[in-house]
Amino acid sequence: MSLLFISSALLPMFGIIFGSFVGVIYHRKIASRIKKEIIITRSHCDTCYKQLTILELLPIVSYLILRGRCKDCQSEIPIQYFYIEILFLIISLNLLLLPLHIVEAYMALVLIGLLVTQAISDFLNKELFTLASIFIAILGIIQSLIFSTYSSITFSLVGLITGFMSLYVINKIYFLFKRRNGIGEGDFILFGGILAIHGVEMFGPILLIASCITLGIGYLTHSLQGEMPLGTGLAIAGTVFLLIPL
Ligand SMILES: [Zn+2]
Repeated sequence: MSLLFISSALLPMFGIIFGSFVGVIYHRKIASRIKKEIIITRSHCDTCYKQLTILELLPIVSYLILRGRCKDCQSEIPIQYFYIEILFLIISLNLLLLPLHIVEAYMALVLIGLLVTQAISDFLNKELFTLASIFIAILGIIQSLIFSTYSSITFSLVGLITGFMSLYVINKIYFLFKRRNGIGEGDFILFGGILAIHGVEMFGPILLIASCITLGIGYLTHSLQGEMPLGTGLAIAGTVFLLIPL
């Protein structure tokens, strides 16, 4: 069997395991009131604290076998774990269908993992992880430098600066009139990172789709007059364009 075949076959498995890790971040860092550390120790049941066996740790499969309940105390395992793992299985299969080099497909998967984490975090907590956005920018630039499927390196670097500066300037103008910030600092860095992946030519489409998604969320959550998660809109738009390279 060729190396290409093996690495392609492993992508969905890596996707599910990666999705499972995003689920842990979601559960311990985003959804939980008390922020727990993501320690690389054996996972345990959140109710009875019993350590999980290997059979209980298999993504997707364990959830189905255990019918969503802890084997010992019968408490419910959060269904979000299952949904996120399924989402990442679909994403990795989608990536295999694209005309990408296999290394680039793995890089795109990591980028999507970071973007999905940002999208959920901004939606639930109005908070973006700066380190994740910086990592998105670095990975986006490396990807453009080696493969240039999503963007050439020049457009990627110009995109990084334009993405950051545009929202920074819009916020400064907004501040002049309203005396308060309209866009969070986290959004500048995230938009810069996303345009480092897709290049400055995607400035318009990404900002337009992100604004529509953000307004849609604002409408559905009745928060059009309050703080709306622009970061969620940006991250979703960035993810969509990774799954359909133009
Ligand atoms: Zn339990």
